[in-house]
Amino acid sequence: MSNATTTSGLTFDIQLSTQRKTPQERAEILQSPGFGNVFTDHMVTIRYSAEKGWYDARLEPYGPLSLDPATSVLHYAQEIFEGLKAYRHPSGAIATFRPDANAARFNRSAARMAMPALPEDLFLGAITTLLEHDGDWVPTQADASLYLRPFMISTDVGMGVNRPSQTYLFILIASPSGPYFSGGIKPVTVWLSEDFTRAAPGGTGAAKAGGNYAASFLAQAQAVEKGCDQVVWLDALEHRWVEEMGGMNLFFVFGSGAEARLLTPELTGTLLPGITRDSLLKLAPELGIPVEEGRLSTEEWRAAALSGELTEVFACGTAAVITPVAHVKSAQGEFRIGDGEPGPVTMRLREELVGRQYGTVADEHGWVHVF
Ligand code: PMP
Repeated sequence: MSNATTTSGLTFDIQLSTQRKTPQERAEILQSPGFGNVFTDHMVTIRYSAEKGWYDARLEPYGPLSLDPATSVLHYAQEIFEGLKAYRHPSGAIATFRPDANAARFNRSAARMAMPALPEDLFLGAITTLLEHDGDWVPTQADASLYLRPFMISTDVGMGVNRPSQTYLFILIASPSGPYFSGGIKPVTVWLSEDFTRAAPGGTGAAKAGGNYAASFLAQAQAVEKGCDQVVWLDALEHRWVEEMGGMNLFFVFGSGAEARLLTPELTGTLLPGITRDSLLKLAPELGIPVEEGRLSTEEWRAAALSGELTEVFACGTAAVITPVAHVKSAQGEFRIGDGEPGPVTMRLREELVGRQYGTVADEHGWVHVF
């Protein structure tokens, strides 16, 4: 409940917006919300200082922040974020999918960026508080959702770079999001990036830190220049081992029918441990599809695609759930996966995941949190 004290001892102070969208305005926006352009009426903020710990938790009207130009995050990018969705179930109830996993990853990212951990009950309490007041923003149309974006920034004022900030601001904002594939599932073409790398051993690749994404835009722009939809990252040392695709993890399907098996790049510390990836690692074997975490080189990828042993490739993540990969391009040439159409294993796994998120398939794992 919004103004109940959390187990962290904090109470969310509720300051309602006087400029809420009317039900008609909201309904119009929800007809075709796009992605990440419109925000709900409120946001949650919680402050941190080294002396006080977490304090001043509140729901307040969505709006601009006022920051001193010397605020640390603006210079040294001490920032982390998460991404998850709220779904409308057939009963009308609102649900999230594994929010505890997002809370845990948020704190792993925080640790890597020398930021304070946010107690899980505050992370989940922020989501509950926002959904209690802005729940009407969760769309009812198929495949649409309310995207939730928790993030944390460093707020010390000053140019000193010898130590991490001593003060932080956690914010949760929400944005209605339309179906990712409005014209049906569209397989993507990917560019194997040999000029740029995303993450090196010992670096920040496993953290969901804003700086990782800042560094990715140039490679993504190059992929688009090469006529591709998305960049595929390779390892930083040999530029050979496949890591992930843009903001999604990759799965490779070998064989077909009862013989189909999956391979996904292992978590080496340089790729993001996706929650969708983790869910598929649990779900696929239960559906009779064995999964292995391992290494795949670009040469192996090409050879297996050409021999036909590799039948499907897909990427997975919160935003698009599962996206088939149909074509691969690199400086060495290009090749196609299967017949270039979404494959049966890809589509089956997509259905199973989406069904659980939207409450049409039984949730035997306790992944779904209904509000
Ligand atoms: N890799 C990267 C780099 C990402 O940004 C994301 C999106 N969070 C993913 C993979 C997929 O993670 P998830 O399944 O948790 O959305």
